[in-house]
Amino acid sequence: NSVPVITVDGPSGSGKGTICRLLAEALGWRLLDSGALYRLTALAASHHGVGIEDEEALCVLAAHLDVQFVAAEGEEGVQIILEGEEVTQAIRAEAVGSDASRVASVPAVRDALLERQRAFAEAPGLVADGRDMGTVVFPSAPLKVYLDASVEERANRRYNQLINKGVDASLEVILADLKARDARDMNRSVAPLKPADDAIILDSTQMTIDAVLNAVLEEARHKG
Ligand code: C5P
Repeated sequence: NSVPVITVDGPSGSGKGTICRLLAEALGWRLLDSGALYRLTALAASHHGVGIEDEEALCVLAAHLDVQFVAAEGEEGVQIILEGEEVTQAIRAEAVGSDASRVASVPAVRDALLERQRAFAEAPGLVADGRDMGTVVFPSAPLKVYLDASVEERANRRYNQLINKGVDASLEVILADLKARDARDMNRSVAPLKPADDAIILDSTQMTIDAVLNAVLEEARHKG
């Protein structure tokens, strides 16, 4: 269809989530947080006692995910309801993220979530946040961004986020976890994390959130 889509792909902690939320707000467009779908599949698996290695059962769970995204006040801007239960915070746990990246390496799970992701594209437009938005899910998007940052900077940001929330955290553990997640996301055989050939690459290591947001909005204006 002809609904305009801006795809934003990149590694964990590059600031994609924040940028996409602000971008969608600024443009008045819908937002697809595709990582949440993989996190929800991982959480549903743990609720139903399905093991991460049971690919067939994972695929069934992904295909039938009973999830609602409800607009809400607050930092996230959305409430996520899985099988009637609010899981907005629960899916952000490090363990769920780690399970999600395992679940996401199963090709049949990715297939099962494909149409659900494409269905988010509705007028007046969509901002799509993920790893394969520009390469697989929305290959004909007119504007594709690949948002990167050094792994050390991404670990620092994550560490500061946790400390500010009053959560105990270790920079070393976060750094090691990010490196493992990067390796899994970039080296998997299906839909690996990489910039689309026609993506604009932004390195946010030395950029503020505002600077990144303005750079993307500027590109969006050019594409008109
Ligand atoms: O972005 P987020 O950290 O929420 O994503 C969780 C995991 O889901 C990622 O580490 C990645 O393995 C997977 N994912 C993916 N494709 C996407 C979005 C997320 O494989 N489009």
